[in-house]
Amino acid sequence: MATTHTLGFPRIGAKRELKFALEAYWKGASSRDELVRVGADLRKRHWQDQGALDLVPVGDFAFYDQVLDMSFTLGNLPERVRGYHGDSLDNYFRVARGRSAETAEDHGGCCGGVAAGEMTKWFDTNYHYIVPEFDAETQFNLDASRLLEQLAEAEEQGVKAKPVIIGPVTYLALGKAKDGSDKLALLPRLLPVYAELLQALADQGVEWVQIDEPILVTELEAAWRDAFTQAYQTLGTGTVKLLLATYFGQLQENLPLACALPVQGIHLDAINARDEVDALIQSLPADRVVSLGVVNGRNIWKTDLHATLDWLEPVAEGLGERLWIAPSCSLLHVPVDLAGERKLDEEVRSWLAFAVQKLEEIRVLATALTQGRDGGRAAVAAELEANRAAIEARRHSPRVNNLAVKAAVAAIDAQLGRRKSAFAERAAKQAARLNLPKFPTTTIGSFPQTKEIRQARSQFKAGTIDAAAYTEAMRGEIARSVREQEALGLDVLVHGEAERNDMVEYFGEQLDGYVFSQSGWVQSYGSRCVKPPILFGDISRPKAMTVDWITYAASLTDKPMKGMLTGPVTILNWSFVRDDQPRSDSCRQLALAIREEVLDLEKAGVGVIQIDEAALREGLPLRKSQWQGYLDWAVESFRITANGVADETQIHTHMCYSEFNDIIASIAAMDADVITIETSRSDMELLDAFDDFKYPNEIGPGVYDIHSPNIPTEEHIVGLMKKAAERIPADRLWVNPDCGLKTRQWAEVLPALTNMVSAARTLRATI
Ligand code: GLN
Ligand code: ZN
Repeated sequence: MATTHTLGFPRIGAKRELKFALEAYWKGASSRDELVRVGADLRKRHWQDQGALDLVPVGDFAFYDQVLDMSFTLGNLPERVRGYHGDSLDNYFRVARGRSAETAEDHGGCCGGVAAGEMTKWFDTNYHYIVPEFDAETQFNLDASRLLEQLAEAEEQGVKAKPVIIGPVTYLALGKAKDGSDKLALLPRLLPVYAELLQALADQGVEWVQIDEPILVTELEAAWRDAFTQAYQTLGTGTVKLLLATYFGQLQENLPLACALPVQGIHLDAINARDEVDALIQSLPADRVVSLGVVNGRNIWKTDLHATLDWLEPVAEGLGERLWIAPSCSLLHVPVDLAGERKLDEEVRSWLAFAVQKLEEIRVLATALTQGRDGGRAAVAAELEANRAAIEARRHSPRVNNLAVKAAVAAIDAQLGRRKSAFAERAAKQAARLNLPKFPTTTIGSFPQTKEIRQARSQFKAGTIDAAAYTEAMRGEIARSVREQEALGLDVLVHGEAERNDMVEYFGEQLDGYVFSQSGWVQSYGSRCVKPPILFGDISRPKAMTVDWITYAASLTDKPMKGMLTGPVTILNWSFVRDDQPRSDSCRQLALAIREEVLDLEKAGVGVIQIDEAALREGLPLRKSQWQGYLDWAVESFRITANGVADETQIHTHMCYSEFNDIIASIAAMDADVITIETSRSDMELLDAFDDFKYPNEIGPGVYDIHSPNIPTEEHIVGLMKKAAERIPADRLWVNPDCGLKTRQWAEVLPALTNMVSAARTLRATI
């Protein structure tokens, strides 16, 4: 009988209880006791949800982030928060969120403002963790209290607990040495603390500990590979058994290394690394546990149970008791429970599985492995039959398969993604048409999403105002944005995106092939969640999506009005995508649909069209060796979307991040006439990546950080642009903020843009 388990469970709660409890506590609207109680209630409920498993994770719950929890367990607190006299949970939140000097409570003068820890993406997911901070002097001190308390809590509730921790090599690899010192030099100091932690767990009667080392699915330098050997020679000899968990990808060249480590079991992501299952089994000593992630922990689709059993049955036969089965990774990355979906399209719903349903699948698979697919328990046969019916229905549904779309994708040729003329020729025609000054000013698209906008939207959704009243309200907001931009003296205007709730959802809602869940929330960081739209079928655009709004806005001004779209790669990367075709195919379908919108805008007389690719970089694969393959189809998709227009039509794109060095050739290959990027926080240095030789077209380096309420001064902006002009010829520079302004107030936007416009005037007079 295969042992069943899971690597982790979503902690936010089916109704986002943790989010609301955290936010109430941070606001001072509820007590620490209340927050702690919500945490305990969620753990209890989630352990019950996982009750059918043989081993249940403990320690995967975190109030903010599991990596930050690990930093506290290891006593690795940033210098600036040590010596805090207050409550340790508050100190944890100080690292997570920072605290400004004004709001800091006075605990004897030691507890002024602190900067938040840096946050970054957890591997290739949309989850963000707080980066551990190191320097050459870092010392570690065990604080096992959180884990031991949760373990005691679990035991009291009769949970068959398997504590989960992040392994030492991954922990070091994910952190940052603030002084540029060698992080690996800390390993000898770190290992005794891990050994002590494992011993403390063993003392509590723990048999198995899951130790996560996902860094093993990435390319490792020799020193890091050696670190694995060193670490597990120390840790593998303790009394507790270690299940070394890898996920999100293949082990490839690290497979022999992983198999040689003296641990009692290895978890392999058999969704991404099915091909490696045999090699893993052959390489592992015969007394080791083989845990296979057979249900996808990163998507929301039902598993094809029969297809899984087809390959898993012989494996199970060979392994016997040594086989464990689980989802491929922690279920943190999927919504909690499909039962909460009341309004979801019934047909699509029958194809889906959220965390609770995925654990059901694990149970059914384990039962089928023990008793046979139609053997001992009739219930299993019925469950497998229901699964087969759902999988078949999805495979053949006309809503999934649109032959016209498939034919259009098959007909894509190189011509489709090519502009008619080279940049220089286009630029001359665009200059003649648009007649812009040097250092033209523009914004990235959105203006403040005011209370009135949100109110009108929710009234429209609730049916208390009709479509005409809603349109009227949005037009009012658009007119206000246009008026303000004219008064500011901006050169290329935008409509302000009042009608958009979200830059992906807005388009998903209008495309065929998408559905939206009601409460399919996934934690992004801390209390923040996203609800990714579900791309389930071939994508098509029944009708124009933005043309009415943009042409209305254009009718209010003589200045050029920029049409505003989200690009195919970003829509793809922020959605739950299909598992029945490659991501690149879905991306090309999106590209064709958005291309139609671009062409419709052009036909309607819109002379400047921006296609945002905010998430292009996010889609980069974990292994550098796979980057180019991704970049090739991502760039191709953008080009298909953008490049069907006439020379006179100016294409903009926007990317709100600042790391370009390693992908600059691909960014240039997109061939947008203008790219706007985030730069203000890096003091224009990142423009080094864009210098004359590598980036041939026009660039708008963001001149102020829209995440901050601070108003930039004219001098500051002029200074930044002068630096930019040292790297990029002045006649190719635009002046704009770092990103959209939807999260700001008008009272902040107006003075900031006033200074930006006068900075552009000063620049025109001086450069
Ligand atoms: N056009 C979008 C906006 O201004 C771009 C947002 C983004 O890049 N994240 O809001
Ligand atoms: Zn942006």
